[in-house]
Amino acid sequence: MTATILDGRAIGQAVRDDLARLAAEYRAANGRPAGLAIVRAGWDAASAVYTNALVRAADGVGVVATVVTLAADVDDTGLRGRIEALNADEMVQGILVQLPLPPHLSQRVVAETLDPRKDVDGISLRSAGNLFLRLPSFVPSTCAAVLEMLDRAGIAVAGRRAVVVGASNVVGKPLAFLLLHRDATVTVCHIYTRDLAVWTRQADILLVAAGKPGLITAEMVKPGATVIDVGINVRPDNTLVGDVDFDGVAAVAGALSPVPGGVGQLTNLMLLKQTLLAPSLWSE
Ligand code: NAD
Repeated sequence: MTATILDGRAIGQAVRDDLARLAAEYRAANGRPAGLAIVRAGWDAASAVYTNALVRAADGVGVVATVVTLAADVDDTGLRGRIEALNADEMVQGILVQLPLPPHLSQRVVAETLDPRKDVDGISLRSAGNLFLRLPSFVPSTCAAVLEMLDRAGIAVAGRRAVVVGASNVVGKPLAFLLLHRDATVTVCHIYTRDLAVWTRQADILLVAAGKPGLITAEMVKPGATVIDVGINVRPDNTLVGDVDFDGVAAVAGALSPVPGGVGQLTNLMLLKQTLLAPSLWSE
């Protein structure tokens, strides 16, 4: 068997077209474009590359992205103040605080201060609670990207066995709940899981977000399964790989998302989608 490749770039183009339409509808209804504020507290090169890519993606679909760069010596009080100002800004429908924050700043301040109506990356306490309770919610953009990929590829979830490798707050756990809410039978594996292959081989849909290159090999995959590789790992030569042995697994799986060119192509677009849909994605 040779897997169908789930091409994030092609899917991304279709998503962009839909977002441009949504952005135009937003402009027509509100007399101004939707706004996304990106709060940056770090100065590293990777976060700058990420910010620039997000601003370009926003420009491309017609969302106004504004970068708010915090001073290097800002403290938790200053961070809270900047977020409160953005909460009150009517031109801003979505707020993304880039994580991780520098060690002297508290992520809890962000989770507690961010207006849940503008929490387009689903990191606030309220978003987490809404997701848990299956209420309308913003969700972490990577998880939204995985669902978008499954939907656009026509891969059904209900009644199927989904195995999530990784249990972080930003990917593994919310993804497991989203799949559960779509009526999959979900197993979550993590670094302390014994005999990982016993679990992964049962998956009709295997979703991998561990941050470990080569973790999933061909013998760990049920023939014909869908394999979504969320991992992003930088090799010593600066190229990217996922967590899945792509060549080996492509010979066994029914469908496989590559890295690069897979889920990562959709993550930023999901932030923009949630910004444009903000009013309907939040529940009191
Ligand atoms: P994390 O380090 O917070 O969590 C990793 C999870 O994987 C943990 O639950 C850990 O127990 C589990 N794990 C680690 N090694 C394992 C092993 N050998 N076997 C089984 N489980 C193992 O990471 P994260 O933030 O959830 O990110 C996971 C991966 O996804 C990383 O490679 C990250 O770069 C990538 N990522 C990609 C996107 C995207 O847009 N595609 C977005 C966020 C994260």
